[in-house]
Amino acid sequence: MGGRVLSVASECVPLVKTGGLADVVGALPAALAAVGWEMRVLLPAYRSLRADAADWPVVWSEADLWGGPGRVLSGEVGGVPLLLLDAPHLYDRAGGPYSGPVAEHPDNAVRFAALSWVGASIAREGLEGWQPDILHAHDWQAGLAPAYLGYGGSCGVKSVLTIHNVAFQGWAPAHMLSVLRLPGHAFHPDALEYYGGISSLKAGLVTADWITTVSPTYAAELMRPEFGMGLQGVIAARAPAVSGILNGVDTEVWDPAAEDPPFSAKAMAGKAAARASLSAEFGLDVPGPLAIVVSRLTDQKGIDLLPAVIPDFVLGGGGLVVLGAGDPGMENEMRALAARFPGRVAVRIGYDEALSHRLFAGADAVLVPSRFEPCGLTQMYGLRYGTLPVVSLVGGLADTVIGASPATLTAGVATGVTFHPVDAMAFGRALAQLLALYGQPRLWAKLRANAMAHPVGWETSAEAYAALYERLTA
Ligand code: ADP
Repeated sequence: MGGRVLSVASECVPLVKTGGLADVVGALPAALAAVGWEMRVLLPAYRSLRADAADWPVVWSEADLWGGPGRVLSGEVGGVPLLLLDAPHLYDRAGGPYSGPVAEHPDNAVRFAALSWVGASIAREGLEGWQPDILHAHDWQAGLAPAYLGYGGSCGVKSVLTIHNVAFQGWAPAHMLSVLRLPGHAFHPDALEYYGGISSLKAGLVTADWITTVSPTYAAELMRPEFGMGLQGVIAARAPAVSGILNGVDTEVWDPAAEDPPFSAKAMAGKAAARASLSAEFGLDVPGPLAIVVSRLTDQKGIDLLPAVIPDFVLGGGGLVVLGAGDPGMENEMRALAARFPGRVAVRIGYDEALSHRLFAGADAVLVPSRFEPCGLTQMYGLRYGTLPVVSLVGGLADTVIGASPATLTAGVATGVTFHPVDAMAFGRALAQLLALYGQPRLWAKLRANAMAHPVGWETSAEAYAALYERLTA
């Protein structure tokens, strides 16, 4: 069937990125085009983007968009069909999408209300020759788009809201209700009222026709107080209209056949060579499995558990390379581990994409002991590179890795090692299991082959989004 989708977001690869949201927004148009859905992305024309769009045609305008003129320019960058909302009084500023050089912009509520307003207007009225069937809003910045669409009275366009990060909820004080062009009746606990103010994420959650998040397990977790960050009740109340769709990874960027040396499931010699050069680079001499961590060093990622479990892993023959930055205390703990186990544990504090590729290519396992993980990417890189993921059973980690157990090994489907709860005891047992599996070369080779055969590209995600759009528009 197929149709048209207007995607409304504050970030989009390759133009502007602060987190995973941008990857999803930038990857979906091409992936959806392959299954018959035409997606255009509405994005603010931040200062850095205005030059790109200088000669694009104007396809929509409003004389007074919260204090100045707003125009939508239509064009394409890096294969992404774009609608850039040019409103210099709101977006032509120094700094990132949300903050100036020193602090967060004080008028972010208005800046992203304007984006959402224009998204809803385009959805309702269409552009010349182009009307979407679906309005797809991302995170709090676009949360008001389904609300404006819904409060504006019924129209044929269906709305979807995707939660990438439930921690940011777009709160504004109650007195801004009319400033934000929201109706008085919406200021109600069953609607967008939230702790005495307005939450644009909540507004989207209560008005969108459908809600998605970035993995099926995280969709269920978000309805529980440990994960929902205050919105669990709101999300649970919408349970029949909530689903999880896993993100994909860019399989051209993350491709073992494009590494140096290249390797593939059928020709693994390159991986052994990559491990050897990695060991030389870090001065390691590891008899057993070489594990890696490539991560922000934070409590969310469970990095604080490493000092408790790594000593036994090293005693059992394992080794570890950590690449990451974050909490200064955790950075120091990682340095201390490396100092305690020279030749077996190495640490690089910092962000280094090229090194992350060498690590995935050369390592045997990637450790991801997250306390929560909406989707997660590194376990998917691990699968694709035959670098077996050792993951906690939360969020997208639980949905992408099939843990080795008597049943999954008999069935021949295991792709890694999983554990729960997220504590040092369970994590330690998982690493003991990893050592045992590594000691059985034929079994290890089978796990690797399973992992590398697991699809992690955007195709599966795009099919799931397309199926959702089809259901909503049927
Ligand atoms: P999150 O978005 O919560 O940090 P994800 O697993 O979804 O976690 O994505 C993290 C991304 O950042 C991955 O692509 C990972 O490889 C990358 N990354 C994290 N830390 C580093 C680092 N120190 N150097 C290079 N890449 C990193």
